Amino acid sequence: MLIVDADVLLVERRLRTGELLCPSCGAVLAPWGRGRPREIRGDLGVRRFVRPRRSCCTGCQVTHVLLPEALWPRRLDAAEGIGAGLEIAALGMGHRQVAAHLGRADDTVRGWIRRFRRRSEDVRRYFTVALVALADDPVMPEPAPSQLSDAVLAIAAAHRAAPMKWPEMNTVRGGPSPAGR
Ligand SMILES: [Zn+2]
Repeated sequence: MLIVDADVLLVERRLRTGELLCPSCGAVLAPWGRGRPREIRGDLGVRRFVRPRRSCCTGCQVTHVLLPEALWPRRLDAAEGIGAGLEIAALGMGHRQVAAHLGRADDTVRGWIRRFRRRSEDVRRYFTVALVALADDPVMPEPAPSQLSDAVLAIAAAHRAAPMKWPEMNTVRGGPSPAGR
């Protein structure tokens, strides 16, 4: 399953103009009918049924279901659960091991990892810039064995550096909110 833009028409256009690439081999994805209708659980117990577009890779011939991003039931998973999963994945564990560790479904974790991996270079760059901005004497993470690990290490480094600039960060506050400061 490939997570794509929420805009169905945009996805259709990108699919037809050969802009969507296979997550496995990088070849162009071609339209390939539609998938089974599936139920998506949304906020407040809303249930929606969608019939996702399917595609077939012109390289490895594997079919991929294009599930719109907005319909990905990611809100069912707290961000910290996903973050923990990515940290474990960055240690080199496969999605099955991560899923077993967190007690989640294999497919769920595979989706997190795949989605993150597709953007990991952008994420790494963004947090590396943040690290340089935040730390007085930034220590760049050593290159890791994968892009996913590089990105997770960059996030962790920026996260550690943030309290140097803003000491209140990463601490839990009690009492009234610090409005007006
Ligand atoms: Zn392929």
